[in-house]
Amino acid sequence: MGLTLKIKEIVFKKIMLREHIKEKLDVQSIRKAKADPHAKRRPRPCGLTIHSAIGCPNKCSYCYIQDMGFDFTEAKPYGLNGRELVYSLLSNPYFLPSRWGTFLAFGSISDPFNRNVISKTLEYFKAIEHLGNPCQFSTKAYISSENAKKISKMKIPINPLITIVTLKKAAQIEAKAPTVWKRLETIKNLSKNKLKPMLFLRPIIPGITDNEFDEIFKEAKRAGAVGVVIGGLRVTKRIIERLKKSGINIKPILQRLKKKQLTEKQVYIKISDLKVEAIEIAKKHGLIPFNSACCANAYNANVPCINLCWLKGQCTNCPNNCPSKIPQIEKEDVQEIFRSIMKTKADEIIVSESKIQIKMKINIKKKELEILKYNLQTILRRKIEIQK
Ligand code: SF4
Ligand code: SF4
Repeated sequence: MGLTLKIKEIVFKKIMLREHIKEKLDVQSIRKAKADPHAKRRPRPCGLTIHSAIGCPNKCSYCYIQDMGFDFTEAKPYGLNGRELVYSLLSNPYFLPSRWGTFLAFGSISDPFNRNVISKTLEYFKAIEHLGNPCQFSTKAYISSENAKKISKMKIPINPLITIVTLKKAAQIEAKAPTVWKRLETIKNLSKNKLKPMLFLRPIIPGITDNEFDEIFKEAKRAGAVGVVIGGLRVTKRIIERLKKSGINIKPILQRLKKKQLTEKQVYIKISDLKVEAIEIAKKHGLIPFNSACCANAYNANVPCINLCWLKGQCTNCPNNCPSKIPQIEKEDVQEIFRSIMKTKADEIIVSESKIQIKMKINIKKKELEILKYNLQTILRRKIEIQK
């Protein structure tokens, strides 16, 4: 695929969309949207996290939101309206619109389909429709067929991830969340409405999830899941205490800890062997396995992974076949895009299949350099090296 005009024009499209939405907002809304963290956040590897809600009453034992300063009392709708969210995103220097642009991820600090916030989440989907970005949400909620239909009617690619990490111990560690059987119904309803729901096997809890891979995959596949996103567990002192209190044997978790001293800081535990095992079993059940959420979003949107997972040893060779979707580019294309961002020319550009090297004499701050690299990586889907 050559570099299409549409891809080259993403930077201009962003400016035009921002001006257009700005005309529809009053001064107060503009100020509020610009000051909001959605206008500043750096995307995570899975994409830019969107909060349609704050807080979550599910109080899962392994949840880290409390350690991030959020609470387990209730899910409160986020304070921005749809248009304000769009203006906020278009003000974020990392964000680029369109299907080729920034991946958006709903559900990192709350459940976007908790009954208190469904309408806010749907309002956000509707508002970002014209931006066109690939969206993904993770949930443990029951989504009715009616709401599944509303999601499927949105004119953007939406990738649903339904969390199930245990069938047998859910009542212990996810006591307040909807039952796993309700979540399987969610998968059914989404599948019936032509979406591609995926099982979210995150976090794998050693000693629990790995004993149930087979059954979880069997049930998810039977309900209509297309794939599975497999992910690790992050723990803090508080999380380990909560798991212990729920009656969970924490020994298999502690054995895999790199650092023995736990604090309120989140640390990953080693699970690479369990991931490999889960990938193999998932394949046997006819589920497409993904090592990371961004890949599932890429597969659903039919675009190369924004995190370049195929260049980072994260690729599970899914049917999306990212290398086949990489645009063929010339130095002139890169120069044009560089100029549209920096308003000046680069001194030297070397283009290869997986990397772009740029030499420039402009003096910019570390943060500006980070933003430039992120934008170029998104548009060109290659590693970016910049020498000053
Ligand atoms: S549903 Fe998600 S956000 Fe809510 S408590 Fe459980 S892990 Fe945390
Ligand atoms: S081809 Fe590989 S890198 Fe691309 S989406 Fe699939 S798993 Fe991810």
